[in-house]
Amino acid sequence: MSTYPCINIHLNTITKNTQNMVSACHSYGVSPAGVTKLACAYPEVGQAIINGGIHLLADSRIANLKKIQRLDAEKMLLRIPAISEADDVVHYADISLNSELTTLEALSDAAVRQHKTHQIILMHDLGDLREGAFYEEETIALSHKAMAMPGIEVVGLGTNLACYGGVEPTAENQSKLVSLARQIESELGITLKYISGASSAALPLMLNGQLPQDINQLRLGASLLMGIGLNDDPIPNTQQDTFDLTAEIVELKIKPSVPINSTALDAFGNKPEFVDRGLRKRAICAIGKQDVDISEITPKDKDIIVIGGSSDHLIIDINDSQTDYHTGSLVEFELSYGGVLQCMTSEYVTKRFI
Ligand SMILES: *Cc1c(COP(=O)(O)O)cnc(C)c1O
Repeated sequence: MSTYPCINIHLNTITKNTQNMVSACHSYGVSPAGVTKLACAYPEVGQAIINGGIHLLADSRIANLKKIQRLDAEKMLLRIPAISEADDVVHYADISLNSELTTLEALSDAAVRQHKTHQIILMHDLGDLREGAFYEEETIALSHKAMAMPGIEVVGLGTNLACYGGVEPTAENQSKLVSLARQIESELGITLKYISGASSAALPLMLNGQLPQDINQLRLGASLLMGIGLNDDPIPNTQQDTFDLTAEIVELKIKPSVPINSTALDAFGNKPEFVDRGLRKRAICAIGKQDVDISEITPKDKDIIVIGGSSDHLIIDINDSQTDYHTGSLVEFELSYGGVLQCMTSEYVTKRFI
C-alpha cells in the first residue's frame, strides 16, 4: 500500500482532550463514556482515551467493539442492536442501548445461552425522533418487561439528541429524562446506575452549569477526538487539531483555468462550472473521492484554492502560494468530522498514529 494519502492521528492530543473533559465532567457529577466510532475503534485511539481516564468505551458497531476487546475498559454498544446480532452483542458488549421488546428477548436468550448477564440502557425519545419510544408509558412498560427477563439487567435510561432532529440538549429535556428515570426506579424497585443524557452536544449545557445534577453519563465522541460539540463548535479546554491529512503531488503544470470546449458532464454526472483566473500553476494530488469527499478537506496553506477532483485526483491551484511545491511535495489538509470518518474508514488511506 502506498504511503500517501495518509491520515495523521495525534494520540497525545486525544488523551489531553480526554483528560480535560473527564475532569470537567467529574466536577458536574458526570462519568463520560468514550465513543470511538469516528476513529473506527482503532485500538490505538481506544487506548488514548483510556489513558485520558475513561474506562467505558462505546461504539455503534459490533465490528468496531471487536477491535477493542482486549483493551482494559467496559464496552457499550450505541446503535440499537439488530436481532440477528444478539449473540455477538452479548459476547462483545457489556452494555447496550435498547428500545425494542423483541430485540431484548433475543438478547435475553443469548445471555442465558452464554451464561452471562447483559446490561441494558433503555432509550427514550425526547423529540429528536431517532431511537427510543416517544411515549413515557411505552418506555415504562418496556422497563417492566425487561426487568423480568432472565440474563438482562436494566442499568440505565438514556436519550439521544442533536442527531437526527437537531434538538438541543436543554435543562428541560434533560430534567424530563431524570424524572422518568426516577419513576422507573420506583416502579421497578431498583436504582439505575446510568442516566445517560446525551452526546458531546450536551457539553455546553454542562459547562454552563445547567445540566441537571442527576444526569451522570454523557457519551462523548467528537469532543474527545476533535474538540467539537453542538453545531461542531469548539469546546473550551480542548484542541481541534487531532487529525490531519497528507497527500502527494503527482503533477504540477501551468494551465488555463477554463477547459477548452466544455460541453459534457463531469465524471459524476454534474455540469461543471469554472472561474476564469487566466493561466495558473496547478497541481494534481493523488487523492480523490474514493478516499474522501473533497468538500470535507481544507488545505492548511490558505493560499491554495481547491478547484475540483474526480475519483482519484484532486486538482488544486497553487499559483498564489508562498511555498515552492514540486512533483513529490506533500500537501497538508485539515479535516471535518465527515472527512475524518471517511479517511478512517477508507482502506486506501494510510493511518499514522503519532
Ligand atoms: C455517536 C453517538 C454519540 C457520540 O456523539 P458525539 O457527538 O461524537 O459526542 C453518543 N450517543 C450515541 C447514541 C451515538 O450514536
